[in-house]
Amino acid sequence: MARIAHLLGISLLLALPGAWVAQAQSAAAGRGAAAASAAMPSAATPAAGQSASVAPDGNQHLVYEVWLNNFSSGAIDVEQVEVVDGQRIVARLDAAAVASRLQAAGRRDASATMAPSTQALLFLHLTLPADAPLPVRLEHRIRSRVAAAPPGRQQITETGAAVAPDRRPVVVIGPPLAGDGHIAADSCCDATRHTRAALPIDGKVWLAQRYAVDWERLDAQRHIYTGPRADPRSYAIYAQPVLAVADARVASISDGLPEQTPGHYPEAIAPAEADGNAIVLDLGGGNYALYAHLQPGSLMVHVGDTVQRGQVLARVGNSGNSVAPHLHFQVMDSASSLAANGLPYQIDRYSVTGTTPGTEAFDAAEADGTPLAITPLRRPVRDALPLDQQIIDFPVP
Ligand SMILES: [Zn+2]
Repeated sequence: MARIAHLLGISLLLALPGAWVAQAQSAAAGRGAAAASAAMPSAATPAAGQSASVAPDGNQHLVYEVWLNNFSSGAIDVEQVEVVDGQRIVARLDAAAVASRLQAAGRRDASATMAPSTQALLFLHLTLPADAPLPVRLEHRIRSRVAAAPPGRQQITETGAAVAPDRRPVVVIGPPLAGDGHIAADSCCDATRHTRAALPIDGKVWLAQRYAVDWERLDAQRHIYTGPRADPRSYAIYAQPVLAVADARVASISDGLPEQTPGHYPEAIAPAEADGNAIVLDLGGGNYALYAHLQPGSLMVHVGDTVQRGQVLARVGNSGNSVAPHLHFQVMDSASSLAANGLPYQIDRYSVTGTTPGTEAFDAAEADGTPLAITPLRRPVRDALPLDQQIIDFPVP
């Protein structure tokens, strides 16, 4: 058994040793530039979350983010990041690992080099043995090379961004779909499209999609679609019923947005319309479930309705910012699909029947309609978060 832990962020700006500041400032004076710091680790993981979720790979997963600040006039190369639990190093990222996980604010590409006067998010995913106790407090030891510092003083190590895993229980839900051959695309924990979808809204940075899944489906010949690519009806998942994952109250709905033409993303879509036709359920306990990209006119519920677990809510469509029919599903901590932080959750019963070779192969199968190669396995799962690129059979009610 394994768990997904979500870390509660605590803002922490490191004070620099006075001697270093003085050195840096004198160097800055000589260079005509202001240099005052290294890559200060600061806040980790905005806002609240929940702690433990079981993933069906026998491990616990910790997923969170750490802000790094380059408070200097030169570039900073982040050479190593160690995640420290007391005296114990629980993870060490070398420069290559940092280069794949550190993204400047507002960018979707990663680099270990921080440009002058920039902030960046380091996206972390720690894997722990199933029986390991959840860390109480983690800190981050950052070793950097600071171009603006004096010669011989450029390698700096700082520690900060202390975080405590949020130990509240994770919500356990039913499946959002029924039947065989569903693909958990861009799911936890290293797929980047959802996990790194940081959005600035109302002065804060949110990660509503941290644990989101784009559900697609394979037909019996392992095709995502058969027939014209541009026709939503060609897709195995199109028009499939989406199900209430719990007894819940309908917190919001949007309907009336058209289906997009599969094969390319719509141009210039407003953020408010990115979800397309959508439903948010209030699951209670501060958990909200989002169903996005629904078929226009298929919504069978209204705001304020109470729904029963398994009840059909709507049908899978291709509305909003969508390149192919799919169900985008996530659990989050508010009814807003954007100004929220994503929460882990567990689906109480399903089977993992295989894994794909990865996102690249999935993208190719989605683009070309070619069969998706699957490594088969059969593993009944209880109370787990579907992981990226797993093939899932949901129970049929
Ligand atoms: Zn999505």
